[in-house]
Amino acid sequence: MFLETLLAAVVGINATELTLQTVRDQTQAVVSEYQVKGLRVQVAKIEVNNPSPLLTRSSPSVCTIMLNTNSTAKVVWGKFVDTKEPTEENALQAFSIAHEMGHCMLSKARKSEMDLPVLSAQLKSNAQGQSAEFSTLVGRKSNPGSEERYDETFSDLLGLHYVAKKHPEQFKLVLEKLKAVREEFASHDVSHLSTPFLSGQNLRSVDKFLSQLNGKPTEVSSFQAAIKTLEQI
Ligand SMILES: [Zn+2]
Repeated sequence: MFLETLLAAVVGINATELTLQTVRDQTQAVVSEYQVKGLRVQVAKIEVNNPSPLLTRSSPSVCTIMLNTNSTAKVVWGKFVDTKEPTEENALQAFSIAHEMGHCMLSKARKSEMDLPVLSAQLKSNAQGQSAEFSTLVGRKSNPGSEERYDETFSDLLGLHYVAKKHPEQFKLVLEKLKAVREEFASHDVSHLSTPFLSGQNLRSVDKFLSQLNGKPTEVSSFQAAIKTLEQI
């Protein structure tokens, strides 16, 4: 009993394991939502000594989202998705997969391999491979050696953008869980500390880049509500 309680406290009492089918379904939903042309995505299962439950590898022809079945990664997942409420679980999964897609998109945009001309041009014109507009906002210039932090911040904002569009009623919950997990791990992984840059202005920048995919910026009311939430928390 004691052991079970202890384990539940560590893993997350309500945690459900992430399956390959869920990763596949959520990935397909993100690809459809953004109409990502020129980006082929596949899903795979791996076990590597890394605490991240999801990892991404981008090659010239395909972007691979990998479900890491390592036991530490399962614990990390359980702490983030510690709920049995299906709508909450769904939104947290959706955020996580959209975050990984952010890495795919950045990688493709850096090589001008997908239809994001403004982002691609900005990434190319900057020696550090960061968008000029976005890099000022994440404070990159005064923060050398933090290229990963730029990528993680962009990916977190893309994840939030997706949640704002598809799961608006869960936006606040996802934002709060995200901030908590980023701050908890900040002491040994500053590259994931996106928290200071999760602003309405940065979310608008990401929306501007993404609007090139389907020709128009997001104007739905849920998106405006998400920006308001970001500005309040
Ligand atoms: Zn990431």
